[in-house]
Amino acid sequence: MTKIFAEDLAQRVGTRAIHAGQRPDPTSGAIMPPIYQTSTYAQEALGVNKGYEYARGKNPTREALERNVAALENAQHGFAFSSGMGCLTSIMLMLRAGDHIIVGSNVYGGTYRQMDKLFTNFGVEISWIDMRDVQKVQDAVKKNTRAIFIETPTNPLMQLADIKAISDIAHKAGAISIVDNTFASPILQAPLALGADIVWHSSTKYLNGHSDLLGGVAVTNSDELAAKLQFNANSAGAVPGPMDAWLTLRGTKTLALRVKAHDANGRAVAAWFAKRLGAERVFYPGLESHPQHELAKRQMSGFGGMVSVETGSKANANTVVTRLKLFTLAESLGGVESLVCQPAGMTHASVEPARRAEIGITDGLLRFSVGVEDVEDLLEDLDQAFKGL
Ligand SMILES: *Cc1c(COP(=O)(O)O)cnc(C)c1O
Repeated sequence: MTKIFAEDLAQRVGTRAIHAGQRPDPTSGAIMPPIYQTSTYAQEALGVNKGYEYARGKNPTREALERNVAALENAQHGFAFSSGMGCLTSIMLMLRAGDHIIVGSNVYGGTYRQMDKLFTNFGVEISWIDMRDVQKVQDAVKKNTRAIFIETPTNPLMQLADIKAISDIAHKAGAISIVDNTFASPILQAPLALGADIVWHSSTKYLNGHSDLLGGVAVTNSDELAAKLQFNANSAGAVPGPMDAWLTLRGTKTLALRVKAHDANGRAVAAWFAKRLGAERVFYPGLESHPQHELAKRQMSGFGGMVSVETGSKANANTVVTRLKLFTLAESLGGVESLVCQPAGMTHASVEPARRAEIGITDGLLRFSVGVEDVEDLLEDLDQAFKGL
């Protein structure tokens, strides 16, 4: 189980991003953690080893990443995985047949697919709830509710869930609350401080930030949950290789800087869209017109770089994405470069059309991952792409 270096919590978050979890290598003084590219470790005698037996269980490069992200989230324990979905699998494997969970109705498409298409086969019962309304979450609680899964802001509609209120509901029901903090990143939102029990990320996105690997991370303050996660991670085996762990650590060093830049550019792009298309077509929690702007101000310290826009039709959406030059048409988000995607046909294609319509993911909806380029260039690109629309 990877526990943080307690003294790392004395630092502020931007400093933690650079230093937490890493110490110069004792053999050489190397300032960067070495890439321990090994599957196994020599043991001195039967039952005598340095705490490392086989790399599915533990790897020092991975441990540095786990401590680093745990410290960023103010958590005691961290676990790294080969992808966000691999991370979710190890969390879901804490459940048993007959357990009930409550999940936001507008979660990441792959989260929906894993839960609905895989875990229901094993007898996990799921209620999909619009978590903008806390009362609906309360009403969905059953005797066998074991966990409430929150994603906020949601992908792609940028809807918010009240982490504190919903975590309270979970705890009163004897359940735990689990937050997907991928969109906000630890820089803008601290779910553990609001009562969440487990926080997880697709580190493919902001944590790594350079669109060059897949990864997932889960963190917790509970020794009991940490022991279960460690057991599941080792048993299910979706662990990252040391090279990916090392690259992610290089990414997290600039997380605070990058997220500040994404946030500034995200605000500017959302404001441009609101002026150009009308605020009712723009989904961004930082806009005063967002129905949950007050909650956003309370629960987040910034609003980030994700902005969705209703263009009105698939044809309009296609015109925009083919004209854009700096925003690349691609899935994924959170990298330094700006991307655009059409959720209905891309990230959320695995969600049935009727369900997409119900939650508001139209064929004309475009989701922008605003990068850290010079914002004037981004606005000029958008201006030419939306000409005449
Ligand atoms: C991408 C994403 C995931 C899935 O993570 P992978 O690393 O792609 O497996 C989960 N949640 C959110 C919010 C995401 O954006």
